Amino acid sequence: MFESEFLTNSPECRAAYQQWMVKTVELLCQGLPEQPYSGKTAASLDEPLAGEILPSTSFEIEDCLQQLGRVISDSVVVSHPNTIAHLHCPALIPALAAEVVISALNQSMDSFDQAPVATVLEEKMVQWLCGEAGFDSVAGGIFTSGGTQSNYMGLLLARDACLEKRWHWPAQTQGLPPEARKLRILCSEVAHFTVEKSAAQLGLGTNAVVRVATDEAFCMRPEALRDAIEELRSRDLAPMAVVATAGTTDFGSIDPLLELASVTHAAGAWFHVDAAYGSALLFSPRHREKLRGLEMADSIAMDFHKLFWQPISCAAFLLRDASHFRYMKMNADYLNPELHEKLGIPNLVTRSLATTRRFDALKLWISLQALGRKKLGEMIDATLALASHAADFIRHSPCLELIHEPVLSCVVFRYRPANPAIEPNSFNAALRQRLFERGIAVIGHTVVRGRQCLKLTCMNPSVFPEQIGELLGSVIAHAQALEAVAKRPVDS
Ligand SMILES: *Cc1c(COP(=O)(O)O)cnc(C)c1O
Repeated sequence: MFESEFLTNSPECRAAYQQWMVKTVELLCQGLPEQPYSGKTAASLDEPLAGEILPSTSFEIEDCLQQLGRVISDSVVVSHPNTIAHLHCPALIPALAAEVVISALNQSMDSFDQAPVATVLEEKMVQWLCGEAGFDSVAGGIFTSGGTQSNYMGLLLARDACLEKRWHWPAQTQGLPPEARKLRILCSEVAHFTVEKSAAQLGLGTNAVVRVATDEAFCMRPEALRDAIEELRSRDLAPMAVVATAGTTDFGSIDPLLELASVTHAAGAWFHVDAAYGSALLFSPRHREKLRGLEMADSIAMDFHKLFWQPISCAAFLLRDASHFRYMKMNADYLNPELHEKLGIPNLVTRSLATTRRFDALKLWISLQALGRKKLGEMIDATLALASHAADFIRHSPCLELIHEPVLSCVVFRYRPANPAIEPNSFNAALRQRLFERGIAVIGHTVVRGRQCLKLTCMNPSVFPEQIGELLGSVIAHAQALEAVAKRPVDS
């Protein structure tokens, strides 16, 4: 027998557990860096991590805490007002507490006998989410690792449903038929890159994705979708799915779901809505209307590690008709034998891409309980209001150019160098890099119609609008400093 103070359920073990937990939380409470990031490069981050990974003798708790402290001090501070680049949120405290329970209980969601109450709670959460999205009782879903996995699942089921409907082809057992070369997926110009990534992984190739034109607000144009479908059909190709986006990553734009659903369904295709970012609007009485038509989706991707402020990872895939999970179902004798289906024992592995899987539904549940509907709505509204504030500031700054009106919490803009000799694309890229390396701000970047832009993604509702103004003021100040340096060779 091996005796360890870390594993047994003795009183000493409980004392060690408490000591580690309390000291770690203390470290986090006192030790977050004051800057959004230390600014270190990948090469210089290596040094503080020197030392043997597997030391020959054990470290004391204090030494381990010191190691943790090193990692903390070189991490991006997600709650800092100037950490504003990505859909990367500060986490809710009740969710952090639930994470402790998730890890300690270590339930595994693949089978009921590894996660009894967790299975029932996840199912309840999924049914509730389906109801909030406007689905009825034949709907179903599963928690996933994120929008990437949820989009992949939607397109996998769409592909197999299409092959079955058009060619009576059972892809799960037979793989892809020659006709699979005809399958096409349509999405807007600004849809997430995981549409192509999924197409590649599904054996269709990235060329199976047809990008449809958007309007000036970066929303897919229904007429353009109709034309694109017509054009594919005239070439004897098979449009199997349309991916609409409710909240594009760069602009927060929401495709006209109702119109797109009707075009898609008239063409006999699957309607997947990537609502990884925008699904939070379901809980904002003020903005909810923007998701009109979501209930027409055949499948939906929702992320909770974005505007629901959950620690990574936490997301769900919802299906309007849960019977479509049959295309993914596999039975393993040791895990989810068919007998269990007869006995009514739910084994969630039947619906999941993953086998061993975390009980992430718990942290969302506890967060919703702790917040309540009203506060959740207020958090979402306050976050969106920050983006409007940023847009106003940018509109009133002659040296900045606003690229779009914000819809969700992100704003794309760019700095206009005063000197016409300065190339704005590389200048904006250099500006963002300077802010990052100096630990001033972690802001985003993207390319819009060939132009390098900057991006703010507001994720922290407790930031004051004035802090957004200060941040943009410092973006301008650094731009001017950078411009002064760039001008020098020309002047001399
Ligand atoms: C974030 C995002 C994704 C990817 O989701 P992950 O959770 O990062 O896997 C997909 N689509 C959209 C619109 C997103 O914003």
